[in-house]
Amino acid sequence: MTLRALLLAGTGEARALADAVSDIPDLHVTASLAGVTRAPVALPVTTRTGGFGGAGGLRDWLVAHRTDLVINATHPFAEQMQANALEACGALDLPCLRLLRPGWPPRPGWIHAATPGDTADALPQGARVLLTIGRKDLAPFHARPDLSCVLRTIEPVPGLPPHIAPMIARPPFTPDQERATMALLGVTHLVTKNAGGPGTAKLDAADALRLTTVVLDRPPPPPGPVVATVAEAVAWLHGKVAV
Ligand code: NAP
Repeated sequence: MTLRALLLAGTGEARALADAVSDIPDLHVTASLAGVTRAPVALPVTTRTGGFGGAGGLRDWLVAHRTDLVINATHPFAEQMQANALEACGALDLPCLRLLRPGWPPRPGWIHAATPGDTADALPQGARVLLTIGRKDLAPFHARPDLSCVLRTIEPVPGLPPHIAPMIARPPFTPDQERATMALLGVTHLVTKNAGGPGTAKLDAADALRLTTVVLDRPPPPPGPVVATVAEAVAWLHGKVAV
């Protein structure tokens, strides 16, 4: 019997997992993208795009597509999708695996923040800031016109105030590129989420330039099965197919 899996995607790990499981016999994987990136790299499995309409919409989708299990490989800070996946899978008694890459180990000098508001509060009056925290969570920075910010995102963000300048760029970046960007912009502070993963060039560049890095710490991990690597997720899936 074919096992039907929903892969909540939107990360490099999700792409790697889709690559790794696309040819497992008796497993049909549908990947799901939120649709926030206009030209996402194609995945080697059936792919759907767009929100489900909350936990209830996801539950309906899982039922309609006779889904047996869910792998949540979204970004570590995609908290709403995580909550929805847990609720929908809980209601249907489906297994829900969280693929959660490890966070970056803390570095000397980091200022840790628990909330986006705390990251803004950590910045001194007049700081020149490279913001790499995405399009959401910007309200505390809108409320700080004393700062001079550059917001780096992959897609344009509408409605930015004059003190938050947009910078559209798609990672990966090398440490040399990051150093050049930070030096050119004359930034004094880097603000980042502890996303984990390979994109540490900005951290290295900020350290090399002796900038202050403000880090939004990870939300707590979800209950239920959690793995840190694609290989572990593949092994978990093989175990499910073998049952
Ligand atoms: P979020 O706050 O957890 O989710 C917001 C809503 O977006 C969800 O309620 C859901 O809408 C929809 N959504 C999110 N991920 C989805 C998916 N894989 N498939 C279908 N719908 C999805 O998420 P977010 O932080 O906005 O991130 C959106 C996407 O960008 C995620 O896939 C995430 O992996 C990726 N991403 C996020 C970050 C970040 O820093 N948060 C960074 C890089 C990439 P409905 O309620 O309508 O179902």
